[in-house]
Order: sequence, then C-alpha cells, then structure tokens
Amino acid sequence: MKKATCKDMRGACSLEFQGETAEEMGGKCRQHVMQMVESGDAPHKAALDTMMAQSKEDQMKWYGEFTANFDSLQDA
Ligand SMILES: [Zn+2]
Repeated sequence: MKKATCKDMRGACSLEFQGETAEEMGGKCRQHVMQMVESGDAPHKAALDTMMAQSKEDQMKWYGEFTANFDSLQDA
C-alpha cells in the first residue's frame, strides 16, 4: 500500500490518499478533486483547470510517470 498527497497528484491540498495501485490512488484523488470543485473550492478548481488545459498527450505522459514512479512513493 502506497500513499501520496492531493498535491503530489497535481491537486491543491495535502490530503493523503492510499492505494495498492496507481489507478486506485489516482481514482480516489480524482473523486476528491471533483467533490472539492463541486463544493466551490477555488484552489482545486484551478488545479483541475490546469490539468484540463493540458493536451491528452501531456496528461498521458504525466500519468505514465506517476505510474512508473508509484513504487518509489512512501509506504502507507
Ligand atoms: Zn485536495
């Protein structure tokens, strides 16, 4: 089980997420960011806008690196 913060996943706060896989952790963070945006949180909205402004290619590149570096994240 690994852990990373919302910020580590290009979010906006230091909330920690745990997961067995990059997919699981990324999914939890994405859900959290969406919830924060829906509740009107400006920093998370800005973070989401930044992500969405990237090309699909850049998004995939970031995700590829996140997945590749998953094993080097801190153990939960
Ligand atoms: Zn957050």
